[in-house]
Amino acid sequence: MGSSAGWELSKSGEEVLLIEQQDEKYTFGSSLGEARISRSLGEQGDIFSFLQQQSVAQTAALIDYLNETENAQHHSMDDIYRTSPMTYIRYTSQQNDVDRLLAEQADPYKFAPDSSTAKALFGMQIPDSLMIIREYKKYTGTLNPNVLISKLHKAMNYAGSDIWYNEKVISLTRKNALYEIQIENTKTGQVRTILSKKVVVAAGPYNGQVIKSIAPYFNELITPKRLFLSFLKINPSVYNSLSYEQQQRLQESYPVGDFSAEIYYSMIENYDTNGHPVLKVGGHFLRTEIDDLDSVWAKTLTQDEIEWSKINTIRYLNMLDLPVDIDDLEFVQGYSCVYSLTDSEVSYVTHIVDENNEIDKNIVLVGGMSGIGAKGSLAYGLIASVLLFNKDDPSIMYQKTKAALGVERLEDDIDALDN
Ligand SMILES: Cc1cc2nc3c(=O)[nH]c(=O)nc-3n(C[C@H](O)[C@H](O)[C@H](O)COP(=O)(O)OP(=O)(O)OC[C@H]3O[C@@H](n4cnc5c(N)ncnc54)[C@H](O)[C@@H]3O)c2cc1C
Repeated sequence: MGSSAGWELSKSGEEVLLIEQQDEKYTFGSSLGEARISRSLGEQGDIFSFLQQQSVAQTAALIDYLNETENAQHHSMDDIYRTSPMTYIRYTSQQNDVDRLLAEQADPYKFAPDSSTAKALFGMQIPDSLMIIREYKKYTGTLNPNVLISKLHKAMNYAGSDIWYNEKVISLTRKNALYEIQIENTKTGQVRTILSKKVVVAAGPYNGQVIKSIAPYFNELITPKRLFLSFLKINPSVYNSLSYEQQQRLQESYPVGDFSAEIYYSMIENYDTNGHPVLKVGGHFLRTEIDDLDSVWAKTLTQDEIEWSKINTIRYLNMLDLPVDIDDLEFVQGYSCVYSLTDSEVSYVTHIVDENNEIDKNIVLVGGMSGIGAKGSLAYGLIASVLLFNKDDPSIMYQKTKAALGVERLEDDIDALDN
């Protein structure tokens, strides 16, 4: 979110300094890794569909900018997006939600309301209590946050902005008309102070800590929770024994979201040196408390978490009618990571309310992204940059999104904390 806001501001001609506590190559953080689900399907007027579509458009503009600046065609949307149909597993008990989702749906999709249609359309074996929706849209599939961030940084540099790595913000305070930002070099320990007229705070789960002197309420409004990710592979000889058609069926059936109580999701993180897919697996509602934010990333997975990942993966592979057993699944590695959560699970892109209950228009906080921030990342950055320079976009969807993420909602949330 910081890189995205930094780029959008640089593109508008602002002089930007991006301060990042990690090295140029990120080794932790909720943006780590090679794949995030990017999907569009939503009900009419859904702000998350709008954010994803805006982000795709902004990514295309980023690619154009890089190619024009380098006077070559070195960059492509396919460096960032892997287009692949998104499969949604829904339950007959969710029929009303599904009806609303598909009513006048403009995105291309196929729908199997029962087992025989699922077999005919997707070659899937499902019980009649399940329904399958598949979304087919350009740039629906996964996006690679690593590549996106490095392209954003490159573009920022071309536009004349700076990025300081290994610099951690240790304090942010308001000094008259300026912000005073203290930063500490994570390698040398050297502390420096810089002053800025305007600030975007986008520190993911660390937002509450970074902004605590000027907006302490964010510590209560955004809470970090740990989630686990398992990386699984099908035993190479079993994968090799699948027919070409079966391997294709598997690859075309990711990413997937199973809207059971825990919301199992999975995607192809990457392909190993043999060309075999590495599956990333998680449960959207399988959240645990965090004792220490700095060390949570290194926390190993429990046996139960690994087992849950395998059981749910084999359940899906069996729905795909693939001859794979649970013992054929190899646990490659696990990773603990963090969701930043608000009560409503809707994020903020907002000015802050200061200690005098005034709206401070020189600062914007982007945070509380839960598990869906990446797909809209460039749109969040765009909104942050628009807010910071008091511009606006009159379109209905923009105004709706701004209201959902913005300062009026924040004021209500602060009031709710006080009462
Ligand atoms: C398990 C998991 C699965 C997800 N799956 C998806 C998905 O499939 N699709 C999707 O759209 N989204 C997904 N998300 C959500 C998405 O990854 C996040 O919303 C997004 O990465 C949040 O970005 P961010 O910039 O807010 O936070 P982060 O990525 O955490 O970035 C914050 C940055 O701020 C830096 N920072 C923090 N504190 C300081 C400081 N004091 N000084 C300097 N720098 C600092 C950090 O080093 C970090 O680089 C998932 C998230 C998780 C955790």
